[in-house]
Amino acid sequence: MLHALLADARFWQLLHRLDEDLAATAGAARCPHCGGALHRGDYPRKPRGVDRARLGPAYERRHSFCCSRDGCRRRVTPPSVRFFGRRVFLGALVVLVSALAQGLTGKRRAGLAAQIGAGAQTLERWRRWWREALPATAFWHAVRDRLLPPVALDQLPQSLLERFAAGGSTIDRLAHALHFLAPLSALGAPVR
Ligand SMILES: [Zn+2]
Repeated sequence: MLHALLADARFWQLLHRLDEDLAATAGAARCPHCGGALHRGDYPRKPRGVDRARLGPAYERRHSFCCSRDGCRRRVTPPSVRFFGRRVFLGALVVLVSALAQGLTGKRRAGLAAQIGAGAQTLERWRRWWREALPATAFWHAVRDRLLPPVALDQLPQSLLERFAAGGSTIDRLAHALHFLAPLSALGAPVR
């Protein structure tokens, strides 16, 4: 499953197109602080976990905007389905690899992490984030009532993935889950 995803150029292109749409919406609005016009001010990223040649140069930039008004110049960063907060690993991997790691121990868990060039401690950090940090965010409090019956917090993120695109492929569910979680990436949520 993970190999198929890593090699699926169409999936990564789809996420890029979704991000372009999210950026277009954000860029068409005014600065939320002062009402000034927004100018494009993307910033560089070096995402890890997937071969850069496969991702293409579009993945080396995170969509972002800067207010054009002197004295404000604040940054507006739209939600993203590709970049998960400040994490260096792509959001799709934070979701899918965390789900695949559920129930794995020892060597199998380390082997899974190695497939994306991560260490077992990275997976452990993600596990704690899903179970402890995410449920405490304002985002989660705002959306959890849309997830009825409630998702099992001790089974995140698999319990979340199962709610999306019933009958669809894992990749469909993953894309839906990333879209659902995208507001987290715009809030600059602490997701180390
Ligand atoms: Zn402004």
